[in-house]
Amino acid sequence: MHLDTLTFMVSNTLFTAFASLCLFGAWFQFNRVPALLWWAVAHGVNTVGLTLLIFGFAYHNPSLPALAGIPLTFAPALVWAGVQSFYGRRVPVAALVAGMSAFIAISLLPGDIDHRKWSVAVQFGVWTVYLLLAVASLWSNGEEMLPGRRALMVLLSVHAVIFLGGFYEQLTGTFDATAPPDLLTWFGIIHFESIFYAGGTAVVVILMTRDRREQKILETAKTDSLTGAVNRQAFFEDAERLLERCRKDGSPYSMVMFDLDHFKNINDTRGHQAGDRILASFANTVQTALRPNDLFGRYGGEEFLVVLPDASVETAYVVAERVRKAFAENHRFFNGSPLNATVSAGVASISTTSDMNEIVASVDRAMYAAKHNGRNRVECAINHDTVGPCRNIVKIA
Ligand code: GH3
Ligand code: MG
Ligand code: MG
Repeated sequence: MHLDTLTFMVSNTLFTAFASLCLFGAWFQFNRVPALLWWAVAHGVNTVGLTLLIFGFAYHNPSLPALAGIPLTFAPALVWAGVQSFYGRRVPVAALVAGMSAFIAISLLPGDIDHRKWSVAVQFGVWTVYLLLAVASLWSNGEEMLPGRRALMVLLSVHAVIFLGGFYEQLTGTFDATAPPDLLTWFGIIHFESIFYAGGTAVVVILMTRDRREQKILETAKTDSLTGAVNRQAFFEDAERLLERCRKDGSPYSMVMFDLDHFKNINDTRGHQAGDRILASFANTVQTALRPNDLFGRYGGEEFLVVLPDASVETAYVVAERVRKAFAENHRFFNGSPLNATVSAGVASISTTSDMNEIVASVDRAMYAAKHNGRNRVECAINHDTVGPCRNIVKIA
């Protein structure tokens, strides 16, 4: 079998069309995520351009490859828009049509320049620029742990480098618009590599969308919808994991239990909806006092737990006091009338021999001591049996 550039061009076009169809299908399947539509249209527009190019070569008609430049310079802009859209960013219309406009402008430019050479060079240059913009967008969104992100960056970067080769080739030679160049030219390589690019990007983009959706479902299942704190089961799973890590590193591990004071009374006098808002507001107060690695969970109705890895009991006490003061300060009034909502807290720290049950029992005991001693205060577990003021704290054994 004789392999020539046209064979690869036809294969590339079929793959690109198939990739576009798959992305359209995925767009329907995944609740119409706009990024998938951008990608589907990008591959679709590319298919139109490639088809015009093939017909131009097949029928030795130089005006078809010239016309193909319009969709072929629009497609990479749509790829960039797809990546931007995936991360919730917009692409201005001017930026979207800039590459295509540059191609049309150079093609129509009056004067004595080699239009064929420069319009093809611009096409390759436009692809390189938009692909690199898409890579930069993926690069700057690394916080979200999506395994496909790096693969997509590689696919787009390889494609950009190959188009850069095509750009160089055009600057140093002239493209014959009536016949496809040899397979061993950058033009030939582009159409060979594009088969992997079309199939690869479609698969990776669909996988990234699916992974993000699964991560969201998992997160929602772990989170208490009213307060945004993690639910009881997820809290203890994460708390155990952090405990293991602190034990291994020999670092401290502290816990705080919060219980809102006379909350039943607040519900009875202000209504449950007001109670809900106060619970959410309390959760917000805690979240702003914590470090990114601290763990905040809803233990039960108006009871919450916080794990502070790598924090001593003294540090945990300071954090609990900060929350207690801020909550009391911010809830003196509710809807214009006095409320004076407060919270009590118990603090404990763990040594290498203690387990999760012991520390929860300790913070529970310390919290009940805070209730007993008048509420709106923080008490610390000193050892297994005793609770005391958070001065001269001795870690529990
Ligand atoms: P104490 O100071 O001793 O903790 O008194 P308390 O009234 O806070 O304690 P109690 O256990 O008697 O009442 C807790 C109340 O919290 C009862 C329950 O209706 C309310 N509660 C639990 N979950 C929610 C919730 O999601 N929303 C609202 N509005 N109230 C809740
Ligand atoms: Mg309670
Ligand atoms: Mg309570």
